[in-house]
Amino acid sequence: MKKIAILGSTGSIGTSTLSICESHPEHFHPIALAAGSNLALAFEQCVRWRPQVISISTEALAAELAAKLKAAGVIGVEVVHGTAGTVRVATLPEVDFVVAAIVGVAGLEATYAAVLAGKDIGLANKEALVAAGDLILAAARERGVALLPIDSEHNAIHQALRAGTANEVKQIWLTASGGPFRNTPLADFEHITPAQALKHPTWVMGQRITIDSATMLNKGLEIIEACRLFNLPPDRVKVTVHPQSTIHSLVEYIDGSILAQISVTNMRLPILYAMAYPERLSSDLIFDMAALAQLDFQQPDLERFPCLRLSYEAAAASQAHCIALNAADEIAVASFLKGELPFLGIPRTIERVLALTPSTSPASIQEVLALDQHARQQAREVIAQNQAVTA
Ligand code: NAD
Ligand code: MG
Repeated sequence: MKKIAILGSTGSIGTSTLSICESHPEHFHPIALAAGSNLALAFEQCVRWRPQVISISTEALAAELAAKLKAAGVIGVEVVHGTAGTVRVATLPEVDFVVAAIVGVAGLEATYAAVLAGKDIGLANKEALVAAGDLILAAARERGVALLPIDSEHNAIHQALRAGTANEVKQIWLTASGGPFRNTPLADFEHITPAQALKHPTWVMGQRITIDSATMLNKGLEIIEACRLFNLPPDRVKVTVHPQSTIHSLVEYIDGSILAQISVTNMRLPILYAMAYPERLSSDLIFDMAALAQLDFQQPDLERFPCLRLSYEAAAASQAHCIALNAADEIAVASFLKGELPFLGIPRTIERVLALTPSTSPASIQEVLALDQHARQQAREVIAQNQAVTA
């Protein structure tokens, strides 16, 4: 029985992780949860799972949650809050395995703390790897921590890499659904609304990653994530647009063999793989072979999806550029969702912030967070300047 901590338990990945715990009770039991601000769901999860600890974003929400639990007669759940709370959840001594599924750089400190505490990790929080991949991987190597990717593409690559050695790999291919605007003419991009961008054709996910899929910045973050996880330069991480999302990614070996991972389009599978590793457990996630009848692939269009080009540029430039890419995107996506920035304002903001970023490599998580804050501030200023010009 593995005792599980879930960072981001109320999110899309977090709730899927709990559903794996539900379907495999003899293998996984969640004992520590960290939520953001969804008090109602955090309360429900405490009633169902009786974790030892739950963290919620603010002190006020923690007081409210503790009072609700007391009133409902749920005792023995320690309620903590803030970043310190997420770190407590990630490092609880009894925990064997941490699922890192907080969205954004907000998940970085807890993910890093879990690695330092020697916990094996199922990593969904790609932004942590983009911002601080070198530091996280070095710490994981030193402590013999297993970092198992939950992001479906990287999970597929992890599986396909088990067939060969690192020097036998020529390059890897990340598949991309292409998002909802795969066939939208460039002229229409300026008028894309948040409601249109939030409709992903193949995956149901949190808001930020859904918008990132529409701009293809998500694939850009995944290129950087793959460089860090698999120790490859950006030019050996390729992207192919595959609208069916049936093949989750591929590894091309030096002898010309290409190994693909195929499965249902359901995140419960990569989560199960990561949690069960190095074993495999049976599941109800059965793939219908009829879905192989049509498999399409096309080259990504860097003109319509400049975020992909910007990501390759950031990956080749420096770690500071990768941090800035992610930070500027977080701010720009939030502005777009509030209706304050047009869709194409997202890549424009990122491009401007990247141009303002000097090439550096942070040596600590504190330096990463400082660069992140600085890039966020620059993104806010770029957006405000543009609004002033267009007002
Ligand atoms: P989501 O928005 O559905 O959930 C995010 C979770 O993080 C929620 O539980 C939220 O409460 C929590 N959270 C947010 N800010 C927090 C804070 N400051 N402190 C503590 N908790 C906080 O997002 P998601 O789709 O589940 O994605 C989570 C991560 O997994 C992201 O990094 C995303 O890129 C990655 N990912 C998701 C999918 C997917 O299918 N959803 C696929 C691949 C990778
Ligand atoms: Mg992915």
